[in-house]
Amino acid sequence: MPTTTPPVTAPTGVGHLRGDESFPTAARRSLADPQLRRNLRHATTTIRAKSAGVIAEQSDWEQLRTAGAAIKADTLRRLPDLLEQLEEKVTGAGGVVHWAADAVEANRVVTDLVRATGADRVIKVKSMATQEIGLNEALEAAGITAVETDLAELIVQLGDDRPSHILVPAIHRNRAEIREIFLREMPGVDPALTDDPTALAAAARRFLRETFLSTPVAVSGANFAVAETGTLAVVESEGNGRMCLTLPETLITVMGVEKVVPTWRDLEVFLQLLPRASTGERMNPYTSMWTGVTPGDGPQTFHLVLLDNGRSAVLADEVGRQALRCIRCSACLNVCPVYERAGGHAYGSVYPGPIGAVLSPQLTGIEDNASLPYASTLCGACYDACPVKINIPELLVHLRAEAVESRPRPTAESIAMAAAAYTMDRPRLYAAGQRAARLSRLAGRRGRGLPPPLNGWTASRDLPEPPAQTFREWWAGR
Ligand code: SF4
Repeated sequence: MPTTTPPVTAPTGVGHLRGDESFPTAARRSLADPQLRRNLRHATTTIRAKSAGVIAEQSDWEQLRTAGAAIKADTLRRLPDLLEQLEEKVTGAGGVVHWAADAVEANRVVTDLVRATGADRVIKVKSMATQEIGLNEALEAAGITAVETDLAELIVQLGDDRPSHILVPAIHRNRAEIREIFLREMPGVDPALTDDPTALAAAARRFLRETFLSTPVAVSGANFAVAETGTLAVVESEGNGRMCLTLPETLITVMGVEKVVPTWRDLEVFLQLLPRASTGERMNPYTSMWTGVTPGDGPQTFHLVLLDNGRSAVLADEVGRQALRCIRCSACLNVCPVYERAGGHAYGSVYPGPIGAVLSPQLTGIEDNASLPYASTLCGACYDACPVKINIPELLVHLRAEAVESRPRPTAESIAMAAAAYTMDRPRLYAAGQRAARLSRLAGRRGRGLPPPLNGWTASRDLPEPPAQTFREWWAGR
């Protein structure tokens, strides 16, 4: 009998898709940090308001969202063909395409490519894919320094920290903390540096300019790749990406396979959706596009690494695959009441917030991120905000079912649910249960938690008081 092998998920021991602790444990710590909560509230409220303003200007926003969702769904349906088309066009334009099944292979490919140039330092454009695979650590292990050039990523790197937001990785830091990090870690910084944002940006610019001009290899991610011409696109706000993509002799781009779009007409839709939903701008300040190599202009060697790392497993799940539509705008983070309070580190993965709660468990397999689908109130704000209409609440419920089914042993919750189902199937037993609940109220358990092993449920909730009269009693007495 033929057997089918399930698609492979992202490997363990490499990259940043798994935290060391569960979401509730990590979130409890961040909830106790008032400074973090103030920073998060200020940043998410500001971005939300800015984004809402520019979205309101766009009369066909809903049609754009529908088009974005449809293009991505169509792309995912014919992903293998589009990727082969992309490979052919990139190769035809003088680039080299590498296929990486997982983080280990992608890190090895990039490390070998950098080694072959003889460089011991690379400059980087902010890239979720390279964070996902832990590329900086892999390069460091090979004696190669990776310098992040996005300001927020640089703050995170110098602070020996982890990003906590897709778009604003240092959202958890305020300017006083950033000044401290610069004074401590940035080579050649003026000791009289103040925490004025202009002064902080100028210090970073001085440091980065020197690095741009003296580093021959750059590593980037990609926001989109157009299959019909083999064109790669990176959008950013600071101009650091433009420097990385044009100044070095060698450019290596690591891109998740889901980033391909069929045509330029499709790209147009996303270039309208992304800036309004993410930074609250009408268009991205810098949109860099390149197709292979052009003699005498820009990098003369271009490598494209196409990364799977669990994406085929996500694609194989009919409900789950919509998570691959994500264009990493971070709108779902900025509207999420759980993210706003718990912050990005609590998710343990490079992908925080609502999209992280559904993407990370799918990339790793539910066993390794089983608490993440519960990191939500299912309020649906993420679905309303998503520019490509990913139904995140539907995915959360789908993954919760997977998490329950993957548990090897019955839990207190599953035993309690089985007992409840048994009782509710038997009217007499159910009525006796209701009487017992009322007796416990009279006996004074009111206001206290449930006894073990059910006390976990009431650890952060009040035990509701049983009503003086049940519905059935009220109905019978009418
Ligand atoms: S899930 Fe939607 S809202 Fe969230 S980051 Fe992705 S595209 Fe943006």
